Amino acid sequence: MEPMTKRGTQTCPICGKPVVDQFKPFCSSRCSMVDFGAWIGETYRLKSEETDEETTTFPEKDPENNTYKG
Ligand SMILES: [Zn+2]
Repeated sequence: MEPMTKRGTQTCPICGKPVVDQFKPFCSSRCSMVDFGAWIGETYRLKSEETDEETTTFPEKDPENNTYKG
């Protein structure tokens, strides 16, 4: 088993591959996006939880009461 932190060699926190300078601290743009997406997802979830009352703009259609009269 290789140690996680080699001297001078970073590993991608997403997949564990050697880091590429261009995509630091990740190994590729894909892993960068994965991390970015996860971060955004967390933020979005937290936000949506906080502003749940404000973001209730979606009308809930009841299957039984599906008559929408503006
Ligand atoms: Zn990676």
